[in-house]
Amino acid sequence: TGLEGGIVIKDDWPGYSLELFTYPEHYREDIESVYIPHGVIMDRTERLARHIMDDIGDHDMVVLCVLKGGYKFCSDLVEFIKNDQSTEDLHIIGSQDLSVLRGKNVLIVEAIVDTGKTMKALLKHVEAFEPKMVKVAGLLVKRVSNVVGSLPDYVGFEIPNRFVVGYALDYNEYFRDLNHICVISEIGKVKYKI
Ligand code: 5GP
Repeated sequence: TGLEGGIVIKDDWPGYSLELFTYPEHYREDIESVYIPHGVIMDRTERLARHIMDDIGDHDMVVLCVLKGGYKFCSDLVEFIKNDQSTEDLHIIGSQDLSVLRGKNVLIVEAIVDTGKTMKALLKHVEAFEPKMVKVAGLLVKRVSNVVGSLPDYVGFEIPNRFVVGYALDYNEYFRDLNHICVISEIGKVKYKI
């Protein structure tokens, strides 16, 4: 269908003016534009949840969240999945022993895939525990990405190669409290540099 790569955001997309939305006042000078508004993220996530349910909904599912950047996407995605099915078959695991993954349907949830290295390493690690099936959901995939090869099975948005923050994605731990996905400004880069 050509839609597997998600919503495509073109290289020349400048984002929305900050004045059109609300955001924490202390970030006023630190962000350039609202790249993906929170509502759009939620709507797209709801659709991904449906897609995931259609594929693996009837089976026991274990969700693995890639912290910390993935926690908002993961919790919203899981909420939508829960609203769609009885929750008894859904397990969300943290850092405990991954041997519980044996024979299970595993969903790895990542906020952003850049080079794909993180995803590849995680896949390799998870597969060592011999799950029945492994799928990956990535909210954002950078277009230049994928030097390593594989793409997530479920993609929210394909974005240009720009550094984005918000919706739990940080820059040196800042901007996690921003709801929208935004592009950081030059002032922001300098201000929060370590
Ligand atoms: P990869 O292994 O795919 O190259 O990188 C993935 C990790 O790099 C992500 O999980 C994220 O932590 C970080 N990353 C890559 N691009 C961005 C970005 O645009 N913004 C933020 N906040 N983190 C990013």
